[in-house]
Amino acid sequence: MGRVTLADARGRVVTDLRLSLTDRCNFRCTYCMPAGGLAWLGRDQVLTVDEIERVARLFAGLGVTEVKLTGGEPTVRAELAEIVARLRAIDPGLDLSLTTNGFLLERLAQPLRDAGLDRVNVSLDSLLRHRFTAMTRRDALDQVQAGLAAAEAAGFTPLKINCVVLGGTNDDEVVDFARLARTTGWDVRFIEYMPLDADQAWERARVVPSALIREAIAAVHPLVPRTRGPEPATTFGFADGAPGSVGFISSVTEPFCDSCNRVRVTAEGRLRVCLFSLDETDLRGPLRAGATDDELGGLVRAAVWGKWAGHRINHADFVRPPRSMSSIGG
Ligand code: SAM
Repeated sequence: MGRVTLADARGRVVTDLRLSLTDRCNFRCTYCMPAGGLAWLGRDQVLTVDEIERVARLFAGLGVTEVKLTGGEPTVRAELAEIVARLRAIDPGLDLSLTTNGFLLERLAQPLRDAGLDRVNVSLDSLLRHRFTAMTRRDALDQVQAGLAAAEAAGFTPLKINCVVLGGTNDDEVVDFARLARTTGWDVRFIEYMPLDADQAWERARVVPSALIREAIAAVHPLVPRTRGPEPATTFGFADGAPGSVGFISSVTEPFCDSCNRVRVTAEGRLRVCLFSLDETDLRGPLRAGATDDELGGLVRAAVWGKWAGHRINHADFVRPPRSMSSIGG
């Protein structure tokens, strides 16, 4: 029997699920959340641990091989280690990772490793304390660095660092981040600023094209391309053989929708087949009403089948989704 696959009408196959565990966050990054936070979901609106396990199992049964736990900030969810253990038990071969701001990793890295987590991505936008504080609205760089050290000690290597580059804010640090990759062996990925900030202050002028970042780094540390995989990042190693890599997630200037293999489920159980979707499929309602796996699978298949060809950021008819990155689960 052939492998079960979850495909859309254009032949793209979904293998990657981003599962949001909470809409809450302990940071207030300027490009994501307002200073005062958002109207949080109520406890009964958020998927329970049992429901999260059911959703993950459903997607694994449909052919998903990679689950990334996200949020909000997934480490503020008290049951995180239990969730990891439950998902690990679904399939020992499932690629199970976490994206986090790193603030609580010092304490959590080892328990998460023990629970069966494979990989950790840490978001880090500045190596300068005052700038880190301004961008995240939290004076927490030391704490995040302690989290990174704990993640390494727990065996989450090589670490992946995600850095959102904002023109006029932290774009002068890209070579410093490349140097960090070289000295630690970490994979640093630069993310283009997307129109998903809750304050709706996004403007194209502040998007720093990946091509410019790549040139700035290559001028100091020549780069060699690495094979492009299903990952959204295009990755480069260092020509002089230094360890580490730099990658680029160029959602605005070089969209990769043609090879998109992912979908998202929000903290309240809504399936989004594109980061920029304007519609969603509620899974929580049917799930709580007693839907069978076949019925839920049918809903998922229908939504994925209708996945649009690509996001419209670069088109005149672009409409921002009504959610911020934090409430989608980036
Ligand atoms: N709190 C976790 C973290 O920091 O990784 C997970 C959720 S966070 C929403 C996921 C990623 O989205 C982070 O790397 C964050 O920097 C990124 N992000 C948030 N808003 C963004 C925006 N407007 N454009 C590009 N990336 C954004």
